[in-house]
Amino acid sequence: MPGAPKKRAGEGKTVQYTTLKVRLYPTEAQAELFENTFGCCRYIWNHMLADQQRFYLETDRHFIPTPAKYKKDAPFLKEVDNQALTQEYNRLSQAFRVFFKDPGHFGYPNFKKKKTDRDSFTACNHVFESGPTIYTTRDGIRMTKAGIVKAKFPRRPQAWWRLRRVTVEKTRSGKFYCSILYEHEEKTPEPKTPVPQATLGLKYSMGHFYVADSGHRADPPRWLKQSQEKLTKLQRRLKRMEPGSKNYWEAVRKYRLLHEHIANQRRDFIHKESSRIANGWDAVCMRDDHMEDLGKAVSLANARDWGYGMFRECLRYKLEREGKQLILIDRYVPSTRTCSVCGFLREAVHYKERTWACPKCGAVHKRETNAAKNIKAQGLRQYFSMQERRESA
Ligand SMILES: [Zn+2]
Repeated sequence: MPGAPKKRAGEGKTVQYTTLKVRLYPTEAQAELFENTFGCCRYIWNHMLADQQRFYLETDRHFIPTPAKYKKDAPFLKEVDNQALTQEYNRLSQAFRVFFKDPGHFGYPNFKKKKTDRDSFTACNHVFESGPTIYTTRDGIRMTKAGIVKAKFPRRPQAWWRLRRVTVEKTRSGKFYCSILYEHEEKTPEPKTPVPQATLGLKYSMGHFYVADSGHRADPPRWLKQSQEKLTKLQRRLKRMEPGSKNYWEAVRKYRLLHEHIANQRRDFIHKESSRIANGWDAVCMRDDHMEDLGKAVSLANARDWGYGMFRECLRYKLEREGKQLILIDRYVPSTRTCSVCGFLREAVHYKERTWACPKCGAVHKRETNAAKNIKAQGLRQYFSMQERRESA
């Protein structure tokens, strides 16, 4: 995730990461080299995986040979960037690490097929005395083996950013892109103390993504919903088809294209919403919901599909890098059934009740807006009682 802070920097500074995604315009020869590199990455992955399996069956021990072992039998591997092959080794090792840790969740690493796998490779930058192996020019990126590849930058990297690695990929429609990962140290901002006027309460909403204490709703764009419905239809069709047939692969291709498209739409939506909020408010209060639980609660809409968890993490780092607060309140706080005016606690509020009147003070509430108001009030209480405790300690 771009900009996500990591803690290992000098006093008063945090290390942050930013990814720039640029369109590449390779020459014919460069495009061919990229294609070969994608192929070599698949080749090396599959051979390492096969050897790991054989080794595991024979000795009961986990071992992955390094890419160097394969170069004698497959000299074409020498023609592509060695860094890309090393990266495959690192990825496979990582895939096994997480698999051994939690097999139920991560699954056994799969073989890669040209037909179904993404065409991509990643290479890390190495800085030698003679200079870095990867760097950008005014309108291009210099890479090992490929030389300078023409590129179009949506914005320029800052002079003090350090280029860590690049990922080159080819989309299903045949375009080349490069994601450049930069690392940079940024000054830790002065923390801002939240005030009620500049604090936003957000309630997760199945129908509207979120509802704010002001009554504002996010409402994911209609086209996002439409694409999602299309995807569900395609999924159903796929299930009825004969796997492996020509029509099946055509449908799989369509499915993947649509999936790619939705993922982009959603990321866009989430980044825009979180930026808008982080720019406009000094603090945001949310419930510490577990996203999996939300998904299970209502089977119709999957919370993870809307990316609420990703939204929260985006908000967190965008607020934090400006010294602002994301305050999470306990998910067992009865935010929905408390009257935000007088504090009266109802037995229950059914999720179909869109409005309700408080039996004690008579205030009429919209269910979700009322909950967002309570989340905000609780968040601010929580923040200030923590501050008091910190100061008295
Ligand atoms: Zn009341």
